[in-house]
Amino acid sequence: MNNPIPYGRQNITEEDIEVVVSTLKSDYLTQGPKIAEFEEAFANYVDSKFAVAVSNGTAALHLCALALNVKQGDKVITTPITFAASANCVRYCGGEVVFADIDPETYLLDINNVRKLLEAEPKGAYKGIIPVDFAGRAVDLEAFRNLADEYGLWIIEDSCHAPGGFFNDAKDDKQLCGNGKFADLAIFSFHPVKHIASGEGGMITTNNKDLYEKLLQLRTHGIVKDDSKYQNSVAFASGVNESLIPNPQLTDYPTWYMEMQELGYNYRITDFQAALGESQLKRANDGLKRRREIAETYFEAFKGKDYIKGQSGVIGGHAYHLYILEVEDRLGLYNYLRDQNIFAQIHYIPCHLMPYYRELGWKEGDLPNAEDYYRHCISLPMFPTLTNEEQDFVIDKVNSFYEG
Ligand SMILES: *Cc1c(COP(=O)(O)O)cnc(C)c1O
Repeated sequence: MNNPIPYGRQNITEEDIEVVVSTLKSDYLTQGPKIAEFEEAFANYVDSKFAVAVSNGTAALHLCALALNVKQGDKVITTPITFAASANCVRYCGGEVVFADIDPETYLLDINNVRKLLEAEPKGAYKGIIPVDFAGRAVDLEAFRNLADEYGLWIIEDSCHAPGGFFNDAKDDKQLCGNGKFADLAIFSFHPVKHIASGEGGMITTNNKDLYEKLLQLRTHGIVKDDSKYQNSVAFASGVNESLIPNPQLTDYPTWYMEMQELGYNYRITDFQAALGESQLKRANDGLKRRREIAETYFEAFKGKDYIKGQSGVIGGHAYHLYILEVEDRLGLYNYLRDQNIFAQIHYIPCHLMPYYRELGWKEGDLPNAEDYYRHCISLPMFPTLTNEEQDFVIDKVNSFYEG
């Protein structure tokens, strides 16, 4: 039997191992210099001003929702075809998730459906939009920005699938996912199935300095360590009673002092994870190139087959986290591939039909494009170390399932 072929997997090199080991031997396991290094390298990679590394992509989403002040009852629009965390971050803050249907051609949140929702209510009814660069295909964020501005909404771009992906704006300039030019905040994940692996890990990128500073604070318990921002007096901080012992020399806060000024979390990444992420980032463009090659090969192999209802075509700027086919008898194909040790996957079960969201009132029939997509979609193996032989084997087995 051939080795199992998963739909995605990490690639750890000797160099990755060396940087992790050397970080383990350094003075800092966490809160050390590797984190800022990784942040700077990542901001450079996606062309944003600021980056904040965090413990995982879900924590990144939660911090974004907090930084944007999502409150009880705030309505936020997102897509049902995503990992549940894209929606859940709104619920963490007590907000209401409103799913809008996908475009059946791109599988992305359909801006026309978002517009319909916004037009149906008085201005101010919605607070934000969370579009997802699903499968690695970049959302046209310029269009979303224009719509969001009309209604005074913020945008969080969930770019977990698309580091290095881009769309072309109206001037035909390449706009990298997470570059902060259109979305207020963008988030990434470094889970091993994603492009860059750090074990667990995530990143938030932005061009907004105020949001950046807020995120840094929320990442570490809401703690401030900056003399110019303290709210309590120097005397209190120093532990002396100002009224009893007037002390004109007492102008500086003691160096131990810090203040918790709002309710934050511990969503930090460790230094050895940041070191691994940074090392992986150096190879991200090679990985992207290989993913695009694999996509091209799949596309050519399945072009014109009558059992294919749709497939991720060859699209400029697509980061190919996933390669998706829409097929007849999806269950049959999935099980047949499993018997051949090929572990395809389904992305995603529509979020609005998870029991948790059904409980909140969502039901079958609410989002027909997403539901129809779910009945047919299957993600084929797609990762940079997939060999040509393995890919040929996958193609051969898909064809033999339908053609005998
Ligand atoms: C992976 C993923 C997340 C969550 O990231 P974690 O690091 O696993 O918490 C969020 N959104 C999307 C689209 C994802 O693929």
